[in-house]
Amino acid sequence: MMPFNQPSPTLGNQYRDDRVLRSYLARSLPPEVLKSVEPSLVELGDFAGGLLYEMQLADRLNEPSLTQWSAWGERIDRIEVSPLWRTAERIAAEHGLVATAYERAHGRFSRVHQCALAYLFTASTDIYSCPLAMTDGAARTLLNSGNQSLIERVVPHFVTRDPSQFWTSGQWMTEATGGSDVGLSETIARQDEAGAWRLYGRKWFTSATTAQVALTLARPEGNTAGGRGLALFFVQTRDEQGRLRNICVNRLKNKLGTRKVPTAELTLDGTPAELVKGTTEGVRNIAPMLNCTRLWNGISAVALMRRGLALARDYARKRFAFGAALAAQPLHLDTLANMQAEMEGAFHIAFYVAELVGREETGEIEEAPRQLLRLLTPVMKLTTAKQAVLVASETLEAFGGAGYVEDTGLPMLLRDSQVLPIWEGTTNVLALDALRVLAREGGAFAALKAEVQGCAGEARDEQLVQAVRLATEAVAHAETWLAEATKEGQPMLEAGARRLAQTLGRALSLALLVRHAQWSLDYEQDARAAAAAKRYAQAGIDLIVPVGPDDALALMNDR
Ligand SMILES: Cc1cc2nc3c(=O)[nH]c(=O)nc-3n(C[C@H](O)[C@H](O)[C@H](O)COP(=O)(O)OP(=O)(O)OC[C@H]3O[C@@H](n4cnc5c(N)ncnc54)[C@H](O)[C@@H]3O)c2cc1C
Repeated sequence: MMPFNQPSPTLGNQYRDDRVLRSYLARSLPPEVLKSVEPSLVELGDFAGGLLYEMQLADRLNEPSLTQWSAWGERIDRIEVSPLWRTAERIAAEHGLVATAYERAHGRFSRVHQCALAYLFTASTDIYSCPLAMTDGAARTLLNSGNQSLIERVVPHFVTRDPSQFWTSGQWMTEATGGSDVGLSETIARQDEAGAWRLYGRKWFTSATTAQVALTLARPEGNTAGGRGLALFFVQTRDEQGRLRNICVNRLKNKLGTRKVPTAELTLDGTPAELVKGTTEGVRNIAPMLNCTRLWNGISAVALMRRGLALARDYARKRFAFGAALAAQPLHLDTLANMQAEMEGAFHIAFYVAELVGREETGEIEEAPRQLLRLLTPVMKLTTAKQAVLVASETLEAFGGAGYVEDTGLPMLLRDSQVLPIWEGTTNVLALDALRVLAREGGAFAALKAEVQGCAGEARDEQLVQAVRLATEAVAHAETWLAEATKEGQPMLEAGARRLAQTLGRALSLALLVRHAQWSLDYEQDARAAAAAKRYAQAGIDLIVPVGPDDALALMNDR
């Protein structure tokens, strides 16, 4: 008798097979824009589910390598990335993964188009989204800086579709003293005899270290301590001969996930650098980069969730247990449906932020949505990142033992998702950021509330009306809590900031999902988004509970 072999899960065209993406684009893009962008999505969707996915599986064991010394004793610090990553760089340039947002062929909709491309591309390229996010962020930061010399010399390389001209950028902020508290940075900037700036210090986490350029923070000698005393610098990593410019790659980090991403510890020892914008306020000046990478983080979170679901659904049709396919087992179906609902909620809030970014970039944004964007950038990032970890964990379980076995390629989904709540601001740090936005931008909360109410007002299906009520109630509770906690003082506010931010994130994502679901019922006669909305509503929207800093302090003490 032949031994039993389990067929592996397979993927189809990742655009054509994606009801959520296609339905969203049909609602949010004008028909002529959709018609124009769709071929690019079909093409990338085909690649992502076909050739690129095959390459990804074949590339599983390849990792970046660092060669520090040549055979003849010269310090070279050469990093080689995996074949998949080399291909990903070319495809990213050719398909305009960064360029699309800057060519702006479709005005404010170009950001949504770019994010749809990123969403299709990310899950098959082992987090090549990391250098792309930083490159996109660097382009935005330089353009915002008004530094004409850098804009003319550098930005064209970020936004080209010609792979031979394409540059990526690093973002060197984190030092051993602190990643969240970058104001503690110890890197010093000093002018040499010729007046050129040189950097001296150690950068503790620098991803995609093969980048041609980087934006980094350093303190010009004599500047005050803290974030304000830091300046934003531009670094070209190599000279004309391809040698690193007074940069030592001390080692590559040995990480849980994102293992294709070369993340290095660097020593800067007189690295030539250019000021981007003034000799202070570096943290403020690099903010556009962080806003951009946080959007990419959200899109990557949704992309990884979607990939897990695509594989788990396919597998459920092939795997039999107790006399029937898993896809026919009510509890397995229910489990997958809950994951799908999480993914759909995350999808709508991430793409909603992309819409707002597109409007801001083209100047088509009023004050209220601008303030809302400031609030949602951290809120969306932290909400979707947590969802991605949860869904990835469930994805592995949905495969049973196979989900835990390395050569299925599945464990990577969990490991790669786990970085999403850590980099670009941890959950707590972003929750505190959201608190600051609420205090600074007086209209941000009202704008969020209005958006949730606007979505609720569009619901007519009785079950959607009930579902979205949980969102409006959660926002009302958040408002009351915020007012009371503000009176109680900073420790109470900070202690509850994560629950507040997640409640706002989950409430808005539910409301946006409901709005889409009503549209889908009306225009597509499709009840699946409504089914997702109903489940999402039951999965916990209002996370605010009456606890505070006192019992937390007590619980810290374990003796
Ligand atoms: C794979 C990977 C790649 C990375 N790539 C880069 C890169 O390219 N460039 C770069 O600059 N950085 C990079 N980082 C660093 C990353 O951004 C930082 O690790 C992150 O910002 C957290 O900083 P930290 O590690 O110093 O942790 P810490 O700041 O020490 O935080 C430790 C914990 O304390 C919490 N915490 C801190 N402050 C507060 C507070 N006030 N209230 C409540 N909780 C708080 C945090 O939430 C966290 O849970 C990368 C990290 C990883 C894992």
